[in-house]
Amino acid sequence: MKNLQENILEIQANIEESLDKVGRTKDEVTLIAVTKTVDVDLIQKSLDLGLNNIGENRVQELQRKYEEIGDKATWHMIGHLQTNKVKYILDKVSLIHSLNRISLAKELNKRAKDTNKIIETLIQVNVAEEESKFGFKTGEVIPFIESILSMENIKIKGLMTIAPYAEDPEEVRYVFRELRNLKETIESRNYKEVDMKYLSMGMTNDYKVAIEEGSNMVRIGTALFGKREYK
Ligand SMILES: *Cc1c(COP(=O)(O)O)cnc(C)c1O
Repeated sequence: MKNLQENILEIQANIEESLDKVGRTKDEVTLIAVTKTVDVDLIQKSLDLGLNNIGENRVQELQRKYEEIGDKATWHMIGHLQTNKVKYILDKVSLIHSLNRISLAKELNKRAKDTNKIIETLIQVNVAEEESKFGFKTGEVIPFIESILSMENIKIKGLMTIAPYAEDPEEVRYVFRELRNLKETIESRNYKEVDMKYLSMGMTNDYKVAIEEGSNMVRIGTALFGKREYK
């Protein structure tokens, strides 16, 4: 594995190249360093090198690392969130990418209200309808949004998807395109409570294609930290 600084520079160059390729020259893409299974020392190092958005997919791990790192980083919850664990992360994360069911929306709204907070979330969409993944089907998203518009302590800030793994990322280009189309459909409805600011899509294997299709938030682990054993 090359060193972390080289990896960061390479990813940033690729991001710029993908933006240029489709004429998004003024757009910015937020690079979220996915640090599951990465130890705190290496996370500290990545912060020193200028990354500041950290993504974790497990509550316990996020809590443990947050204790050491704190608000030096901007924290993103990117994994499936159990309802009974909401209370542990609400004061730590700036964005939850995985709002994927109504019961979670209710709990988030309740807890946020109790602490006088507005929690920002993305709606997770299982575009490819994979059995193994969480998230709404594309057609379920607008009814879901309409069912939570009255939840004043949740602010919807966009959409998130995880594409199926594909050797050739061109095979999943349609997933990113469909999510962007959905974003535009939602925008055209002008819900005053909804702000479709973020499209969180693209991981190590497919972020270039995702950016070409409109992503402005990529979640990258392997290309930064090398291959790890994900539990
Ligand atoms: C692990 C993970 C990533 C990063 O995946 P890589 O292929 O290592 O870049 C992105 N998003 C989610 C939700 C993840 O769980």
